[in-house]
Amino acid sequence: METIRQKIQSLRNELNEHNYNYYVLDNATISDFEFDTKLKELEKLENENPQFFDPNSPTQRVGGAITKNFETVTHKNRMYSLDNSYSKEDLLNWEKRIKKILGTETLQYTCELKFDGASINLTYEKGQFVKAVTRGDGFQGDNVSNNVKTIRSIPLSIASNFLNDFEIRGEIILPLDGFFKMNEERVANGEEEYRNPRNTASGSLKLQDSSEVAKRPLDCLLYQVVTSERKYKTHFESLENARKAGFKVPKTIQLVNTIEEVFEFVNYWDIKRHDLPYETDGIVVKVNNLEHQEELGYTSKAPRWAIAYKFRAEQVSTILNEITYQVGRTGAITPVANLEPIQLAGTIVKRASLHNADQIEKLDIRVGDTVYVEKGGEIIPKIIGVDFNKRHVNSTKTKYATHCPECNTELVRTDGDAKHYCPNEYGCPPQITGRIQHYISRKAMDIEGLGGETVDLLRKEGLIENYADLYDLKVEQIIPLERMAEKSAQNMINGIEKSKEIPFEKVLFALGIRFVGETVAKKLAKHFKSIDNLMSASFEELINVDEIGDKIAESIIDFSNNLGNIQLINRLKSYGVQLEVSEKSLENLTNKLQGKVFVVSGVFHQMSRNELKKAIEDNAGKVSSSISKKTNYIVAGDNMGPSKLQKAQDLGVPIISEQDFIDMIN
Ligand code: AMP
Ligand code: ZN
Repeated sequence: METIRQKIQSLRNELNEHNYNYYVLDNATISDFEFDTKLKELEKLENENPQFFDPNSPTQRVGGAITKNFETVTHKNRMYSLDNSYSKEDLLNWEKRIKKILGTETLQYTCELKFDGASINLTYEKGQFVKAVTRGDGFQGDNVSNNVKTIRSIPLSIASNFLNDFEIRGEIILPLDGFFKMNEERVANGEEEYRNPRNTASGSLKLQDSSEVAKRPLDCLLYQVVTSERKYKTHFESLENARKAGFKVPKTIQLVNTIEEVFEFVNYWDIKRHDLPYETDGIVVKVNNLEHQEELGYTSKAPRWAIAYKFRAEQVSTILNEITYQVGRTGAITPVANLEPIQLAGTIVKRASLHNADQIEKLDIRVGDTVYVEKGGEIIPKIIGVDFNKRHVNSTKTKYATHCPECNTELVRTDGDAKHYCPNEYGCPPQITGRIQHYISRKAMDIEGLGGETVDLLRKEGLIENYADLYDLKVEQIIPLERMAEKSAQNMINGIEKSKEIPFEKVLFALGIRFVGETVAKKLAKHFKSIDNLMSASFEELINVDEIGDKIAESIIDFSNNLGNIQLINRLKSYGVQLEVSEKSLENLTNKLQGKVFVVSGVFHQMSRNELKKAIEDNAGKVSSSISKKTNYIVAGDNMGPSKLQKAQDLGVPIISEQDFIDMIN
């Protein structure tokens, strides 16, 4: 006699198999009716025998779980962007760069389609699905597991002959026919149509009710396996095996040996992509050998071992109805073209960016014109020209705005700046709100429980006028606000309180000083160590810092001389916000490697390549990617590239081991 447990297990296996055949292989092996009958049977058995509950059972696919707040999860491995290329020349240059770093003449690549959806990172442990996290800012994303689990083509438990612990990355997409069907239903219900498949896919991931997500025809195409298990030698091999293990790895992937072959792939898909059941906006070329990938590593934004190639953008023409002006957080004015709505690359376009006054002047864009609109990689399409044949005889030249549309202050434009600015920094409503929204944002103070819309609301209610006011907020003031309750109010206050632990470099970025972005803030924090040192620094002292130019220095001095800012900073200090570098982060910093230039090559064991580089920089050394006469040391791990080795020997650069390096800094 089969035990109940066995019965449950065999139903699960059977249903998983049917799911796989239907959703991954596109090959139904059972009727819908039979499938539903078996699913109901399993559901019943599971309900009667709760001790056999399994979060990865096929019964869990129908959704039902509600996620009110998506938990923020730090990625174990950062999710990078991709560098873009647009021509054969770009690709040849890329190839040249990486061959130089690797010191090799021959390389194998994979060519893949670049799927246009929402990127997702799936984590498996012991072959079981554990979580699905969105890319977010690359460092942290949202845990959307409940929603992702409803996507039938994603296996929840996989055979043991693949890897045990791994992450697999892919794109959640909405195939076109599903998208059109959803829109038909919306039209029938008198609702507004969804704009495009990509936004609808990523929006779906953030729905609170997973049973709603289960109804949407989402799919997940996988393109990268991330693991510390060294079972596979190449990217291609790892994906082929992922496919065998049940993942939907598109068969369009192709192995090639030259950039010429990459171009054949591009040319083929530039035409054929219109026959695909989903959208793609380009291709991705990746170095196939995983050791090579490791050796090449990453820039601050993207892997060196991969590059995207964008298909040429689609164009349409439509009528420009009106030019309006938007005021950004820093007071920058952006002219916006309000267009006669038109379908472009799967999207209905109503607005396009006009960039700045020069652009309007150069293209001689006027209201009433028929304009050409193009959609590249950016979300906002742009206007690339005017159809002068269709211009009306009585059309008049565009006069650029002279005053701020929000506060009516006269706009200024300094020499060398492409944009006009509203100089009313501390009185212009969108600037005030924008500065606070920037302050709380993820890359800045990362305040949990408080979002951009709530900032808007707090401002409208007169509860805050600047970011320092956040720290005076009381739960009782927040509870009565729209869509707030005791718990959410308390969360927000806790989040604000917790931001007092955010390290100085992020606080400095959060302050929103013009031209002080994330990287500059880091540099300044490292150099000046406190806000007091920074604010009292002279112009000369500022421009003497590596990579700090006149513009940044001037902006910091302006900021520091402003009485309102001085008061704000004093208030932040009094609340306990970190306005100097903490003792702890200074602990590992030394000047031991001052003036020394290192090249790091190969695979390491005691620390990762990135940890090694960080250790060099923490000790005041410099990391360079290629060997030259200026190189002082090469830290060599396993499998250092042969031509690198040759070059090092030719130039007489000392080659040291990982252990030598560790001894050097300790
Ligand atoms: P971008 O957002 O333009 O920097 O491009 C990077 C994104 O492309 C990744 O985060 C992925 O979501 C997406 N992508 C789509 N298809 C692929 C692919 N085949 N390989 C790598 N990334 C891909
Ligand atoms: Zn203004």
